Amino acid sequence: MPGSITSSLLRRKLFEPLIFRLNGSPLLRYWRELEQTQFLPEEELKNRQWQRLERMLCHVWENNSFYRERFEKAGITPESVRSPEDLQVIPLLTKEDIRKNTLRMISRDFDTAELQHYKTGGSTGKPLDVYLTEKCSELRNACARRHDRWTGWEVGEPVGAVWGNPELPKDIKGKLKNWLLNPLIYLDTMNVTEHAVKTFAAEWERAKPSLLYGHAHSLYILAEYVNKLGIKEIKPRGILSTSMMLLPNERKFIESVFGVKVTDRYGCEELSLIASECEKHEGLHLNIEHLYIEFLKEDNTPAKPGEQGKIVITDLMNYAMPFIRYQVEDMGIPSERKCSCGRGLPLMEQVTGRVADYLIRRDGSRVAGVSLIENTLTKFSGIAQLQIVQETMDQIVLLVVPALDYSGGTQYELSEYFINLFGNSVNVTIKLVDCIKPEKSGKYRFSICRIQ
Ligand SMILES: [Zn+2]
Repeated sequence: MPGSITSSLLRRKLFEPLIFRLNGSPLLRYWRELEQTQFLPEEELKNRQWQRLERMLCHVWENNSFYRERFEKAGITPESVRSPEDLQVIPLLTKEDIRKNTLRMISRDFDTAELQHYKTGGSTGKPLDVYLTEKCSELRNACARRHDRWTGWEVGEPVGAVWGNPELPKDIKGKLKNWLLNPLIYLDTMNVTEHAVKTFAAEWERAKPSLLYGHAHSLYILAEYVNKLGIKEIKPRGILSTSMMLLPNERKFIESVFGVKVTDRYGCEELSLIASECEKHEGLHLNIEHLYIEFLKEDNTPAKPGEQGKIVITDLMNYAMPFIRYQVEDMGIPSERKCSCGRGLPLMEQVTGRVADYLIRRDGSRVAGVSLIENTLTKFSGIAQLQIVQETMDQIVLLVVPALDYSGGTQYELSEYFINLFGNSVNVTIKLVDCIKPEKSGKYRFSICRIQ
């Protein structure tokens, strides 16, 4: 009875503490601490954040030749950074900087052979190597766990995932540990068929997960199948969408099919969890306990609340391979609203898209591809799904999954819409397809700009 209350309790109260104690893992202690600190006043959390930032700046000054050199070039020392305004003088870190200097970015006294190492997915064609200590990894896991609970899920309860290329335990030991600690069933997004969805529903009935999670569009596709096939077994208590592109129309549909709210979360592989909605869904709480997050306008000055800016992050926990003022290549909107949940973690309004998803007009202005998708889907009939690929300044390809009422009119309206936005010189090609295919990582992208 893997999904029963008794099993969940056993996992939470017995297996987990036992296994963590045997492993010497500090995760439980971190997690319990984080459960407390989330309700500290915002002022107090920001003080702690600033202290952690100062500590990190001192650390890289003393122990990291890559940053020491950058600081010296910019004429700064840790002592010269006394306020958020002073931070502006620290150069921004690009993905290119990281690729060129990966090993130089490792701090003194850390041995790469002893660090956890992984490559990020590189769905924008730019994979990165990231190193961190086990302790840092445990801190991140503890934080993710706190935010997982905001969905209504409880530690020890089974989870249903809609995921591409999931990493699954291969041997008996791994499977046993999985069952003892994190029982998981999954639907592989690289191969979603009626049969696969029915199998997933049957497994759900057996394991009874309380949480359904996956990339926004994968959840949407599952919701479509569930709706079409009249499946009743998949009844999560919470739904977690970990992709940043949770389109409002898709969110509404997922919520109507499963009858529960979607919890939106934003993160990246290099830094883990960046921001997350809580049970109130009034914006995304920023993870300021682990990160220092800035929103910068085009001229690199801070965006005001409500203004869009590029997201720039300093990791306060990864001492082995520090990320200082790292340009994540996403855009978002900061907020000064307070969430009614009472947590001291400040809010951001929303992530507005990846830089790579922005299309470019002749005059150099940028258009958020996600907004174009939203506009066209709600404006024109006949389109079930749409992917925009800007090949060159004058060449836009639209991959359209037609709905039943698709017609020549739809095609004409779509072309006109893009020509109006991008100018008469643009050549719009419409290709009808059965579905929009996910990337190798299993993630979906609706808007791709190939202009470098
Ligand atoms: Zn809240």
